[in-house]
Amino acid sequence: MNTQYCRHGCGQVATHTTKGSLWNGPFKGKPVHQCAKSANACPAVKQRKVETSRKNFGTDYPWQTTEVLDRRKQTTIEKYGDVCSLKNPEQQAKRKATLLERYGVEEPTLNADIRAKAAAGVKQSYINDPTLAKRQIESRRAIYGDEYADIVEKNRQTQIANGRWIAPEKRSEWNLYKFKVKQLTAKVYKANKDVINTNNLPLGVCDYQIDHIYSIRHGFENNIPYKLIANIHNLRMLWHTDNKSKHIRSDQTIEELASKIIGA
Ligand SMILES: [Zn+2]
Repeated sequence: MNTQYCRHGCGQVATHTTKGSLWNGPFKGKPVHQCAKSANACPAVKQRKVETSRKNFGTDYPWQTTEVLDRRKQTTIEKYGDVCSLKNPEQQAKRKATLLERYGVEEPTLNADIRAKAAAGVKQSYINDPTLAKRQIESRRAIYGDEYADIVEKNRQTQIANGRWIAPEKRSEWNLYKFKVKQLTAKVYKANKDVINTNNLPLGVCDYQIDHIYSIRHGFENNIPYKLIANIHNLRMLWHTDNKSKHIRSDQTIEELASKIIGA
């Protein structure tokens, strides 16, 4: 079998295949073989972005300049009629169709409140009916037969491969860590709003979001005290689409963060 190399030119072996962008870009509708779950994580893609940004704006990341954000916002408004593509009816319909195709539902529960309510509801139904879990497993076995265990294992492997797997025994620890980081982040932001958000940008799902430059996930995995992750030097404003595509990526090393804190 021929070795597949990362399509973005980093020279690494391709370990992931994405479906490609659904609507635009050079990979529209084609599978893309790449070295990481997200193209943004490929060193070649990162390098190109940094080079372009340095050339055009004198900073490593274009989203650090307001001109670029304004231009990007303008493009989104022209394309979708709003700064947030989610508010455009046509885009909304396309999105729903995609979600329906991918997940079998129009609106996966992205919202933490909805998710919490759903989880509580599910939990309650198991309490109400102690035989439910057993019956569910049996009916899944009846549908999938011997493949059932394979499907469970395949899901687990996918989560491991895309870096989202948290071992069950680690999950409550991870949730607690995330909670502590977010709680402290809110406090730090409130106390230092003028420094973190110098341009007084609007915060929100469809606006700007507070990003942890060295990611919460990497902090958890590397046993970094949560106070360092929520430190002012690790916070920046990020346009919502940039924050979304960043996933669990870190845009500075823990050493860089530490030196900023010490140097402050
Ligand atoms: Zn690559």
